[in-house]
Amino acid sequence: MVRLDTGEVEGVEALVRWQHPERGLLAPDTFLAVAEETGQIIPITRWLLRETTRRAAAWAAEGLPLRMAVNISARHFSAETLVRDVRLALRESGLAADQLVLELTETSIAEDPTRAEDQLTVLRRAGVRVAIDDFGTGWSSLAQLFSLPIGTLKIDRSLLVAAERVTGGEGGAVLAAIVALTRTLGIRSVAEGVETVEHLRMVREAGCDLVQGWLLGHAMPGDDVPRWVRSVQEAGGDACAIAAAATSVPTAP
Ligand code: CA
Ligand code: CA
Repeated sequence: MVRLDTGEVEGVEALVRWQHPERGLLAPDTFLAVAEETGQIIPITRWLLRETTRRAAAWAAEGLPLRMAVNISARHFSAETLVRDVRLALRESGLAADQLVLELTETSIAEDPTRAEDQLTVLRRAGVRVAIDDFGTGWSSLAQLFSLPIGTLKIDRSLLVAAERVTGGEGGAVLAAIVALTRTLGIRSVAEGVETVEHLRMVREAGCDLVQGWLLGHAMPGDDVPRWVRSVQEAGGDACAIAAAATSVPTAP
């Protein structure tokens, strides 16, 4: 995740891959649905929380404090072990709580708003940040969503694509309206799926706080993150400017 005002890399989102003994490296969509159904998603996420907080703490110790965002499933949220799992991961890793962001979809929160509010309040008090993921793909009530103690709203790529299709700048107005709403409520906004310089221009005009997507950086192994962030820093620190400059130059054959 990159800040739009400075272009600084603020954090990363952890995406889990499975090194299958026979089928090789598997993308999340090939196994997470099954893991979700069978409940295996809870131990997987518990492991992921420990692993990612450990890494983020190690990066911070090397002078690279990056926020770590972890996707939390509805199943984990309703199992009510989340608060305990998060606390344990933070305690074991020594990572500062505000460096951890839990990403929850609107749907997982809408399932049981009261329980969601209770858990989010506890997490928030502990200092952990909570983000609403894939905003725009669910049908949750805005009033209900924004009454929860959330710190960040991640605007789904589909809203960006829809806004791009609308001609005459009206699409950008929709994005700007969402961002204005988050501002009023003191919530930061992240534009997801930013893949082109045009996307970057649109979300900048809309006033988003942060951006994420292929334009800024492809998914990479965790081990490569420090090298990538350092290369951005050495090139001036503005990941947005670097990405825009890279796309304006024809690539070598
Ligand atoms: Ca996510
Ligand atoms: Ca997302």
